Amino acid sequence: MSLDYSELAPAWISAIAPYQPGKPISELERELGISGIVKLASNENPLGASPKALAAARAALDEIARYPDGNGFALKHALAQRYAVTHDQIVLGNGSNDLLELAARAFLTVGDKVVYSDHAFAVYALATQAVGATGISVAARDFGHDLEAMRAAALAQGAKMIFIANPNNPTGTFLSAAALQDFLRALSANILVILDEAYNEYLPEECRYDSVGWLKEFPNLMISRTFSKAYGLASLRVGYALGNAQVIDMLNRVRQPFNVNSVAQAAALAALQDTDFVQQTFALNRRGMAQITKELSRMGLEYIPSFGNFVSFRITDAIAVYRRLLESGVIVRPIANYDMSGWLRVSIGLESENEKFLSALKRILGEQQ
Ligand code: PMP
Repeated sequence: MSLDYSELAPAWISAIAPYQPGKPISELERELGISGIVKLASNENPLGASPKALAAARAALDEIARYPDGNGFALKHALAQRYAVTHDQIVLGNGSNDLLELAARAFLTVGDKVVYSDHAFAVYALATQAVGATGISVAARDFGHDLEAMRAAALAQGAKMIFIANPNNPTGTFLSAAALQDFLRALSANILVILDEAYNEYLPEECRYDSVGWLKEFPNLMISRTFSKAYGLASLRVGYALGNAQVIDMLNRVRQPFNVNSVAQAAALAALQDTDFVQQTFALNRRGMAQITKELSRMGLEYIPSFGNFVSFRITDAIAVYRRLLESGVIVRPIANYDMSGWLRVSIGLESENEKFLSALKRILGEQQ
């Protein structure tokens, strides 16, 4: 082939390093011919989905020959009631990933500057690059966002948008409500702040905050949330963003007309209403987090205290340990692409899954000595 087709793409597209997802169970099964694999690599809900969401999804299958409601009325209605916002303040997305990209596509163009933190969720850089804008990654503080430095960088570089993850993935770090509010108050109102709260439902009670209530004060704030994590609907791809109606209107202009399918809409609506399931998920995660971090400490491994449903720990020969864990039927996530090459991230699973991970890790570390 004489023509290099990648050269037909704009230089900023061919420069993108693709997102690296967690290894699917089916892939490892094919590679190693083993079964009983535990996947703790993509921050999924180990309980699966709420039975009510599953029932709603099954019922919705009868109608899949029809296009979904492109306005997602029923789901938006439930969200509007839950958060005391109007329909025009909500946009639905094909996962919250979609909303991050829509925000970039709606507001950014070649040459615009975007600020995010080192070790922050990879999609911020990807969404920025995909529209030819320039990402500015600001040094982290204790692996978390340094809001003061991010504000200074945004000001100095004339940035148009700032991405913030709270809690952040893969570090699990958390910014308090007061820190976020101070940041928003000090920031000029023409800089859009995309506050990604994909792990919001995992926050301990004492850390919870009402970011939706801040929308009145900060029209430059957009909040994204997802049904992929605590609600257990990762594969259905559904998320939502809340913001001021003008911002949301711009996202609605660039999204696909039917970006959230009808099965996903129905399941998300049922999931939203199943608060018991979310509570169960939360409680399981707290227990699993304690189970894993206690043992990591016992093994003398440093970890970053996490507010999400995963925890990152430092380990010598991270890739070798990752591979040995795979051979033991446990999939975790290397995070070298987050500039954390000596670290692995493990999602919190069921007690038995966590146990399988911990005993495999202990065995591997024992063998290494
Ligand atoms: N934000 C953060 C911080 C995430 O970790 C993820 C998933 N890994 C997402 C957004 C996107 O998830 P989804 O598209 O499934 O909503």
